[in-house]
Amino acid sequence: MSELARALTAELGPQRALTTPEALLAYECDGFTIHRRRPTAVALPETTEEVQWLVRLCNRLGVPFVARGAGTCLSGGPTPTGDALCIETARMKKVLHVEPEDLYAVVQPGVVNIRLSEHVAVHGLHYAPDPSSQSVCTIGGNLAENSGGPHCFKYGMTTDHVLGAVVVLSDGGIAHLGHAAGPREPHGLDLIGLFTGSEGTFGIATEITVRLSRNPGSVRTLLASFTSVDAACAAVGDIVASGLTPAAMEILDQATIRAVEASVYRAGYPQDAGAVLLVELDGLDEALDEEAPEVEAMFRRHGALRVEQAKDAAERKRLWKGRKGAFGAMGRLKPDLYVLDGVVPRTRLVETLREITAIGERYGITMSNVFHAGDGNLHPNISFDGRDAEERHRVEEAGREILELCVRMGGSITGEHGIGTEKLDHVPLMFSEDDLDVMARARRAFDPTGLANPGKVLPARSSCAETSKWPHMVARVLAESDS
Ligand SMILES: Cc1cc2nc3c(=O)[nH]c(=O)nc-3n(C[C@H](O)[C@H](O)[C@H](O)COP(=O)(O)OP(=O)(O)OC[C@H]3O[C@@H](n4cnc5c(N)ncnc54)[C@H](O)[C@@H]3O)c2cc1C
Repeated sequence: MSELARALTAELGPQRALTTPEALLAYECDGFTIHRRRPTAVALPETTEEVQWLVRLCNRLGVPFVARGAGTCLSGGPTPTGDALCIETARMKKVLHVEPEDLYAVVQPGVVNIRLSEHVAVHGLHYAPDPSSQSVCTIGGNLAENSGGPHCFKYGMTTDHVLGAVVVLSDGGIAHLGHAAGPREPHGLDLIGLFTGSEGTFGIATEITVRLSRNPGSVRTLLASFTSVDAACAAVGDIVASGLTPAAMEILDQATIRAVEASVYRAGYPQDAGAVLLVELDGLDEALDEEAPEVEAMFRRHGALRVEQAKDAAERKRLWKGRKGAFGAMGRLKPDLYVLDGVVPRTRLVETLREITAIGERYGITMSNVFHAGDGNLHPNISFDGRDAEERHRVEEAGREILELCVRMGGSITGEHGIGTEKLDHVPLMFSEDDLDVMARARRAFDPTGLANPGKVLPARSSCAETSKWPHMVARVLAESDS
């Protein structure tokens, strides 16, 4: 038994210190299954003090550590890149404190997103960011990824809802970032803003203060089916141009509809449609009485085949079930799923999706699309069999081209799933050497030891292999965008 394993078992006991190969197997990847590596050991702390003890142990032994929530990340964030201790927050799942009047809650990082909304529902409140993985993903993971979700079109991403955090830094120090008083606090740098989205590379959040939102007075959920994704996108463009701000606007293409309808997430979506568009409006009843018919009229102007509006909570749940279960439903198509995450300006959705289809055809891969249309945040999903090395290679190449395309369209290589290990090669497409330098310096300020989740987010610029590749990639993308 290694010194790390011995120390963990002595301190936490065998239930909370996992060291056998079988136990570690479950931690070899997240939702991005292309990159796999088992951690050296897994520890399940329950308190800030225990996390601090673990980080100090890593310092003493010179072992990197990787924080892990539920492992639903789609870019390799919690997957080790070498020997590492995985610090899983599954046992840190207490809602520590709720202030319904002041609209905030303090939670441990392992609290599952939807459990927080359930916990505060008694006060007529909820936690707004709602990733489609919300029934399993944790607030700690959401903070580290700056996660989004369907309702982030209107309400903003995680960063707009996190007020503060207690963080164990990589040298074992503890920092208190932000404040429950929120952004109007007049003193100090916005360090919680900087920490949000740092993917576990700035330390481990052990207590998180989040903003709570009042439940909307009323909600209208509408589903329209169209002959094509183009028509559904055009309807989205019209809705935004009209000045309405729906809470959510989600599109599913035909391949996704069919996968959903053949699965346990069946929602009654019309299978002959080229696309469905789910629009949710919320606010005062009187306003919605006017807005819902306006939206319906816009659907019809773009040739909607069928429009339905949920009559009650059960119907609303059904309409959302297909969207929320879409990634799960794709498990029916092939053993593995590569969920891409890119952003393009909303006005370029149609041409981008056409090019994505062409890329998919060129590589002979199985692809489906479900996306946060209001934000221009695309999720092309590639179903594949990871045991087939040749197919895996084609999938990776297609993924690379799709992300390059998003940048060429004036967009970004990630909307909400982070960089992890998946997109390291793409980072230089978005940032200059100077930009990357600033980020590396900020990272060193939080992680002076270099032990916090190494090999993520920022490419290793000292590596000749990496650096030699960059200028070619950047030059190619720029040249293609000129043409
Ligand atoms: C079916 C499905 C649907 C999804 N839908 C969405 C969606 O709509 N929107 C969206 O944004 N994402 C979505 N995701 C991606 C994923 O759920 C989010 O990134 C989520 O926030 C990850 O949370 P987690 O608890 O699983 O974190 P993990 O996957 O365990 O970890 C994610 C990252 O956070 C770090 N981390 C975890 N806990 C801490 C902590 N306490 N302190 C510091 N760092 C920490 C890890 O090191 C890692 O880098 C989806 C994933 C799946 C599988």
